[in-house]
Amino acid sequence: MSVGDPRDVVALKRDGKAVPEVELRAFVLAYGRGEVGDDLAAAFLMAAYIRGLSAGETLALTRAMVDSGGTMTLEGISRPTVDKHSTGGVADGVTLVFAPVAAAMGLAVAKLSGRGLGHTGGTLDKLESIPGLRTDLTPEDMRRQVEDVGCAVAAQSPDLVPADGALYALRDATATVASIPLIAASVMSKKLCVGTDLILLDVKAGSGAFMKTPRDAGELARACTDLAAGWGRRARVAVTDMSQPLGEAVGNALDVAEAVDVLSGGGQGRLRELTLQFAQQAGEALLGMDANEARASAEDAISSGRARKTFARMIEAQGGDPRVTDEPWSVLPRAPVVTPLVSDRSGVLARIDAEEIGRAAVDLGAGRKRKGDPIDPSTGIVFRARIGDRLDLGAEIGEVHARDEDAGRAAARRVLDTLTVGDDAVEPPPLVFGWTDSGPPEGAP
Ligand code: URA
Repeated sequence: MSVGDPRDVVALKRDGKAVPEVELRAFVLAYGRGEVGDDLAAAFLMAAYIRGLSAGETLALTRAMVDSGGTMTLEGISRPTVDKHSTGGVADGVTLVFAPVAAAMGLAVAKLSGRGLGHTGGTLDKLESIPGLRTDLTPEDMRRQVEDVGCAVAAQSPDLVPADGALYALRDATATVASIPLIAASVMSKKLCVGTDLILLDVKAGSGAFMKTPRDAGELARACTDLAAGWGRRARVAVTDMSQPLGEAVGNALDVAEAVDVLSGGGQGRLRELTLQFAQQAGEALLGMDANEARASAEDAISSGRARKTFARMIEAQGGDPRVTDEPWSVLPRAPVVTPLVSDRSGVLARIDAEEIGRAAVDLGAGRKRKGDPIDPSTGIVFRARIGDRLDLGAEIGEVHARDEDAGRAAARRVLDTLTVGDDAVEPPPLVFGWTDSGPPEGAP
């Protein structure tokens, strides 16, 4: 069906009325084809952001985004297949580590990722900081690579969820990101168009996430599992903490270097732990392992060096320089100025505004302010302090990687201003608030 007058779809949502599935679908498909412009699509997104979407409208939006391109079957892939996605956070490099770890455990990871969105980083931008690396894989490239290497991470394309690619960039530019139905449809359209045996979702909660509380994150998790169940797909979903940066690196090249460090056996912190938990879940669900076996298998993938080698093969298969996995900084772009981040207070770190740290990184050039803006992959922030840590006046707690001294100093000031430091001991937040399972869709199509 063609769109009658696309303004009618916007007007219905603006007035808080239900948009019939057929109209919503036609609108989204027309936008994906370029027949509806950014102006109307942005107006629709803002109306949906403010008014919300019903479960039926969210399903219709997701279906239309999936149908804007083709689907990718993984039949014939010789190992169990898994996909993993985060709803967005700060210093969230789990995918970079998870994909090669899971592949080294005997799984096949086929993943469509996103770019930086709002104050959060994007796996595609991180990967593209590796010189030569391409994320515009065709479904055939992706399938071949998944079979040969065990993992592939690619972008939305004219073949796979093009409407999400376009709406995602528009949401980033129009302050319409933090909406449960829009995030659920965006995330799940990318997962549902690729036919993996298991979808793992990391729904972030806290100051650095789009959902600021575990309760809202739980609602987003439910919206995603409802979509998975409606599609007959199995999803395991964790609500996890984002009240502080997950890893230490907030940028792009910096995140790749941190991922290589974890894959080389370093980084004993929360990034490594969360990645191992996701890998464990995949091992239990798909390889018939119990929890201990799956955990040991994930740890062995790292300690044996197999996961790091797999990362090198994945990078090479996508055109990047695999030497990044041996000596990251011989390959990755470096920012001209590195400014130390020095604590201006003594006391216990009680709270971090992780969104503000993400925004400071965006302003350094690590993210976009307007649709299509180039990013500077070398810039960003390394932030090492954790909630509950004791900070000493004058202690170095990280670094700012900037294009010039002024930008470095301004970002350092901004990061320090996000910290709440007190006298009392503070319990660190849990890493994971809980897991749910959409359930194995026995007999479902
Ligand atoms: N990740 C996505 O793919 N989409 C969103 O909307 C948020 C995070």
